Amino acid sequence: MKEIRLLFAAAEIFPFAKSGGLGDIAFALPKALRKKISTTAIMPLYGFIDRERYGIAPTGEHFTVTLDGSAHDIEFFHAQYDGMDIFFVYNDTLCDREYIYGPPGEGYGDNDLRFAIFGHSIAEAVERFDFNMLHLNDWHTALAAVIARDKGVKHPIVYTIHNLVYQGVFDARFMKRWGVGDTHFHIDDMEYYGYLNWMKGAIAHADIVTTVSPSYAIEIQLPEFGFGLDGFLRKHSDKLVGILNGIDYDIFDPMRDPSLDASFGPSSIRGKNRCKNAFLKEASLKEKEWPLISFIGRFSEQKGLDILIDSIGELLGNEINLAILGDGESRYIEALKEIEAENENFYLQIGYDESLSHRIYAASDFFLMPSIFEPCGLAQMIAMRYGAIPVVHEVGGLRDTVHPICRTRKICGEGFVFESMDSKSFLAAISEALKLYKKRSSLQKVRRFDMECDFSIEKCAKKYLDLYEGLR
Ligand code: ADP
Repeated sequence: MKEIRLLFAAAEIFPFAKSGGLGDIAFALPKALRKKISTTAIMPLYGFIDRERYGIAPTGEHFTVTLDGSAHDIEFFHAQYDGMDIFFVYNDTLCDREYIYGPPGEGYGDNDLRFAIFGHSIAEAVERFDFNMLHLNDWHTALAAVIARDKGVKHPIVYTIHNLVYQGVFDARFMKRWGVGDTHFHIDDMEYYGYLNWMKGAIAHADIVTTVSPSYAIEIQLPEFGFGLDGFLRKHSDKLVGILNGIDYDIFDPMRDPSLDASFGPSSIRGKNRCKNAFLKEASLKEKEWPLISFIGRFSEQKGLDILIDSIGELLGNEINLAILGDGESRYIEALKEIEAENENFYLQIGYDESLSHRIYAASDFFLMPSIFEPCGLAQMIAMRYGAIPVVHEVGGLRDTVHPICRTRKICGEGFVFESMDSKSFLAAISEALKLYKKRSSLQKVRRFDMECDFSIEKCAKKYLDLYEGLR
């Protein structure tokens, strides 16, 4: 049998472009896979990517796709980064933008056209560069499954749902803009209550559909979490697999993280205190002995911003410091800014800042993740690696990675878990965390245990390799 030649496609790949966990995983997974099989990643060459810094060079390969009478020129670029082969796709409509998808909390109005162009580029790359396995991620690459099948590509396609909320649903009249045939407007294909749904098309045409945690694979087949696709996913349940994401410990390692003031690890935890003191100073938070609680993430309903904001007043009444880093919907930004103005023990940073996020993880005693739903969640895994004990809603990937504290320390990892999605339950879980903070030796034991837990991308990659082998 022929060796696997995998093309792994995503709209964002760290460090070139990242808006969240997809960017992390779309770098870490192909990097881990390439140790075992031939793997190339592919993403758009957005205007904000520094070509020189990453050695991104033209391949000389280009093609034109005509969509609804307009010709779109597409050029392939290439770079080697951290031992990984990456193709970059350049087209002005797709790439000449300030943001990946649009300003925080919004999307560009022509994202369908942009990512249709990307979809055609992926399908073209499979044939042109002779790949024999395609792995697509989220709605931005979903159309590539449909286009590839239209072109007669028979190779196995794996499609991963990182977040079912963003499905790529568009007006049926747009179909012509994307260069896919009318036959896809069908109940077993992209048709969706009179609209067109890209993710549904990819589910229909992929050989295997994965999602990013075992619990989420079950949840998305229920009306409560299925966002209208639960029935279709139940229909395709025989090809649906939940594989827990992992993190790249080359990047998220407090022993050798260039963003930190001191290094630390499970057996040398003292540096964590230095990181905490340095951050408290940077954030002008005064009480050094108080626990530092943090939140890093997108300001969206999904991430539990409503209960977070509802609970903050009471939370800040305790002897704690709170740090929040994030960006997103303006209603949340405004509410948080008001709270910041009135509370000295609250640090708020609006925006996206990779290095600051590492400093906050390292400084924190506890990390909040009150998500309404959470496909996997990488932030809680990063937090645990950096010795910040998570406080999470028991849902999706949070359920699979954070377990109530237990003396036997059997299941990785441990933290504070609340079941009911309301401020009272959330605050009760935080209050348990604050009790633990007072018992220094128990606190250190839980912290060490979490730091030692293996949430590595290698574990995740092994499962994907088995899956690809099965498809071969
Ligand atoms: P998402 O649903 O956004 O993908 P994850 O928990 O899976 O959530 O991954 C979020 C990733 O993005 C983590 O690496 C987290 O540290 C990072 N992140 C989120 N918001 C910010 C921010 N404002 N600044 C820096 N990093 C951020």
